[in-house]
Order: sequence, then structure tokens, then C-alpha cells
Amino acid sequence: MNRIYVDNAATTKMSKTAINAMLPYLEENYGNPSSLHTVGQLAQEALVKAREQVAKALGAEPREIYFTSGGSEADNQALLTGAERGALKGKKHIISQKTEHHAILHLLRRLENQGFEVELLDVDGDGNVTPEQVRNAIREDTALVTIMTANNEIGTIMPIKEIAAVCKEKGVLFHTDAVQAVGHIPLNVADIGCDMLSLSAHKFHGPKGVGVLYVNKKLFPSTLIEGGAQERGRRAGTENIAGICSMAAALTEAVSKIDQNTPKLIAMRDRLISGLSEIPHSILNGAKTNRLPGNVNMCFEGIEGESILLLLDQKGICASSGSACTSGSLDPSHVLLAIGRPHEVAHGSLRLTLSEENTPEEVEYIIKTVKEVVEYLRSISPVWMDLQEGRREYVIQ
Ligand SMILES: *Cc1c(COP(=O)(O)O)cnc(C)c1O
Repeated sequence: MNRIYVDNAATTKMSKTAINAMLPYLEENYGNPSSLHTVGQLAQEALVKAREQVAKALGAEPREIYFTSGGSEADNQALLTGAERGALKGKKHIISQKTEHHAILHLLRRLENQGFEVELLDVDGDGNVTPEQVRNAIREDTALVTIMTANNEIGTIMPIKEIAAVCKEKGVLFHTDAVQAVGHIPLNVADIGCDMLSLSAHKFHGPKGVGVLYVNKKLFPSTLIEGGAQERGRRAGTENIAGICSMAAALTEAVSKIDQNTPKLIAMRDRLISGLSEIPHSILNGAKTNRLPGNVNMCFEGIEGESILLLLDQKGICASSGSACTSGSLDPSHVLLAIGRPHEVAHGSLRLTLSEENTPEEVEYIIKTVKEVVEYLRSISPVWMDLQEGRREYVIQ
């Protein structure tokens, strides 16, 4: 069967460019960059080049790029950096918001257990926070503000440039989890004015297990992994040269294609939204236009997200109910709850995340198939019957 992959927020297929950039470091150039001989020095040269390439794509300096094992590690390192620097000055207040990725939320919970005070801002119905909310929350003892650039479930793009400006004015460190945004919308760290930014290669057609923490040159990140002197002594462990070179190539390629891909993705996204909105008692999650070009997230009343996914999979469509990290648990998405969806509706969500490899024909097939699947599931749903017969009130009109 020809599969249609529309789960690109969970991970992406590696590009040919990314695979080819990796191969020399798996075959002949297998050296350890810390070795003084030629084989090691070839790897060292590749590392220097990759760091320059990543820096250029982000508008940063090479010394501001720290390679990590992915987005989660970069997020952890960023938060620990903010927390440890704050604690030294007696500042133990951290501001974030409710729809962050679990890599942020779970570490914040740990910091809370260690005596930090964490304040999670509410989002509006589109999943947005405002710079004013951040301004009002900042106190004398605020150590760090961390707000994601774009949400991984509902695609909402946050006003991070304005939030960064508020933080700068108040003298508070600002980190952004840009894992869903890098390579998909234009971003430049100097332009944003953030102190730290996280990204992950496998979200833009690079390999899994490699990412970056950008850290403004005026500060140094805390050390998460102790050991050798790699990454300026801030992240020990022999470098994943193949992964890093591949990420640099994937990032350069993704950034160079944003202008060309965006209109195509937006057209497919908006066609999916309008087609699926024809389903009665359905609703779009997230902002209508202020969202990632490839993100669609909808709720359908009266059905379970998991059962839609299984039936779609049988018809060759690989989709998601939201975050890959919450599937397997029975809790509804914290993101959908935060934008005000009640529990029973939050369970019936479907996330479709496109890449430039998807086609308008696939989009039409998805619309037709989702309509059939929702109709079938409703025909066997006791909840739907109650709604139809007036024993229960519709939540989605
Ligand atoms: C995928 C993702 C992460 C985690 O990145 P990994 O490289 O998988 O650890 C963090 N934040 C967001 C917003 C993500 O989408």
C-alpha cells in the first residue's frame, strides 16, 4: 500500500542531502575530533564547518552553537542554565506557559520540587500568550522566561520577538523552544533577541538524536553531562560527527526552501481545514492563520482520537492525535485542555502535519477518508446517539 505520511510534527523523513552528508563520517572519516592525528583532525574540521553552517542558518556566531542529543536535551540544558544562574542571585521564579512540550513542563516540575516557583501563563482560545501577560508576570526575582516559538500540537506561532523585547527590557533571561519552527518559518536569533533557543534535526528532515542549544555569547550554559572538554566544556561526550554534519546540511537546505515551500504548504493546510470543517460538529484547534504552514488539528465530537487513527492507518494514512509523547496515556492533551476544550472533546482530536512531499491529491484523499471514518465511528458511538437524540448537549456546535 502507498502510505501517506502526515505526521511530520512527530518526525520527518531524512532528505537525500542529509543522508549523503552523513555517509563520509560513517565510512572513511570515522575519527574522534579530539585525536591529534590526521583522521581525528579531519573530523575536527568537519565539526568546525558544521558549526559555522548551523550558526549561519540561525544568524548566530559559531561559538554560540552547542550541539546536543536533540530538542529535549537542549530544553533541559536551557532551563537548568536559567535556574542555576538565577539561584546564584537568589532569583527562583520561572515563567512559562501551559502548552509547552513535556521536555519543558516536566523539567519545570522537577525545578519546582527543588524550591523554584514556576508560573505557567494561561493561553487564549487560539493557544497564544501575549507580551503583556509576560510583562505582568515578571518580578524582581524572575530568573527565566521560557515560551515556545510554535506549538507542536496546534501549530500556533507565539509573539516571541515581542516577548524577548519585554524580557530584555526587564533584564530577565529568555529561552524559546523553537523545535517546531526552525526550518519551517524564517527565524534569526539576532532578530528575535532571545538568549537561548532549542532545535532538533529530525523535525526538519535531519537525523534523530541530534540538536542544538543556541546560547548568546554573553552567557555560558550549565553543564548537563560532565566529562571531557567537548562543546567548550559544557557538554561532554565524543561528538556525533555524522549526525551533526547531517543536521547542518539538512538545516541549510530546509532554510533555503522555506520561501518556496510555504505557499504550497499553506494551500494544502487550508484546503484540509476547509474540507474537514464540512464535517458537522467539528472544530479547528489553534489559530486560523497564525499557525505553522503544515499544521492542521481538529476535534470531532462524539468519537475517540485513537479509533480515528487506527482506521486511518488501515487506509494508509499516518496521522496523530496530538503529541507523540502523550499517546499511550489516556490523559487528553494538556494543550487542548489549555485552549478550553472540555475532556470529552479533547479526546476526539486529529493532527495532520504536512511536509513539502505531500500532494494536493493526497489532501483530497485524506478529506474523503476522514469524512468516511468519522461518519462510521459516529454510527457505532453511544455518545453520538445520545447527542443525536437530545439526551446530551453538543459541545461543538
Ligand atoms: C519534538 C519536540 C521536542 C523534542 O525534541 P527531540 O529531539 O525529539 O528530543 C521538544 N520540543 C518540541 C516543541 C518538539 O516538537
